[in-house]
Amino acid sequence: MTVQAYGAHSGDQPLEPMAITRRAPGPHDVQIDIAYCGVCHSDLHQVRAEWAGTRFPCVPGHEIVGRVAAVGAQVSDFKAGDLVGVGCIVDSCRHCEDCDSGLENYCDGMVGTYNSPTADAPGHTLGGYSQQIVVHERYVLRIRHPEDQLAAVAPLLCAGITTWSPLQHWNAGPGTKVGIVGIGGLGHMGVKLAHAMGAHVVAFTTSDAKREAALDLGADEAVVSRNADEMTAHARSFDLIVNTVAAPHNLDAFLVLLKRDGAMVLVGAPATPHPSPGVFNLITRRRTLAGSMIGGIPETQEMLDFCARHGVVADIEMIRADEINTAYERMLRGDVKYRFVIDSATLSATA
Ligand code: NAP
Ligand code: ZN
Ligand code: ZN
Repeated sequence: MTVQAYGAHSGDQPLEPMAITRRAPGPHDVQIDIAYCGVCHSDLHQVRAEWAGTRFPCVPGHEIVGRVAAVGAQVSDFKAGDLVGVGCIVDSCRHCEDCDSGLENYCDGMVGTYNSPTADAPGHTLGGYSQQIVVHERYVLRIRHPEDQLAAVAPLLCAGITTWSPLQHWNAGPGTKVGIVGIGGLGHMGVKLAHAMGAHVVAFTTSDAKREAALDLGADEAVVSRNADEMTAHARSFDLIVNTVAAPHNLDAFLVLLKRDGAMVLVGAPATPHPSPGVFNLITRRRTLAGSMIGGIPETQEMLDFCARHGVVADIEMIRADEINTAYERMLRGDVKYRFVIDSATLSATA
């Protein structure tokens, strides 16, 4: 079937309305009417071809929430009308060690929600800046938040799980001191989640204007990372730092804030590399520098259920689909609190 979408035909062109096709649901498929889709910085990296390998036309969007329109004959866990979400993964090999462990995000055969090869037209996946999507039931998440929070749930599907997964893996919780670097879409979720897990949370921002705002999000302390004295006051004190910054920067400034055996986990994915950190900042205190990519399907469901129980949602600014190009410019300037979300109802008006 044909649906309306928003995407780009090349990396140097703005996004524009386009018609795309979705497959008819197979026996294990869930057909979803998309209500809202969050705008992740990865969308911008990909659609502007800042990362290698963008396939055009490119329809970004992997923070998808909506309602089930129809299900295939073999689907038993979902029915028409259910509130559901789709994150960054729409398929994987389903039989490797990673898939068996519920870590489909590390499967070599992972199919991303956009820009991955697929049998469907046009030969690669097209994402959530669209009216509908059809996804195998294994990769569909259940949303248990009240319906009036649906738009603010959308960013949990990427920003939420991408910060949740390292916070869980590196045991953030009561008695731990956790830093979150970069208070954007991912970072603001990192602060909310680490706070809800019971950690002592310190927000690191380059923006003086975000200092107070970070405390409102649940941070116990906020540090302006350009201020050397403020940074030094936290030397050798962190168990874990989750770094969400979307641009290359000096990692040593944060590594020295880790205590012995502390870890800094990079989730930000800048298009050009960070300067290599000083080895002595790692070896002298057995520190770890690590990375983490989104999260698996079971842990994404756990995160959504945790957020429903704790009343955690994103802070969002709703936009019309035809405001997406302006929203990208504002995101680059850090001028959003903290995530843009597209109201998918505005897609039909742009066709
Ligand atoms: P975002 O909303 O633009 O937030 C990024 C934040 O980084 C900004 O708000 C800013 O925070 C800080 N920042 C940006 N440029 C900076 C610079 N030049 N120097 C220092 N700080 C800077 O982006 P996002 O959607 O959260 O995504 C963040 C990054 O994570 C992107 O690279 C994205 O592609 C990546 N990502 C990775 C995964 C994964 O699986 N690992 C998943 C999703 C996204 P302050 O204003 O507070 O300093
Ligand atoms: Zn994302
Ligand atoms: Zn696999």
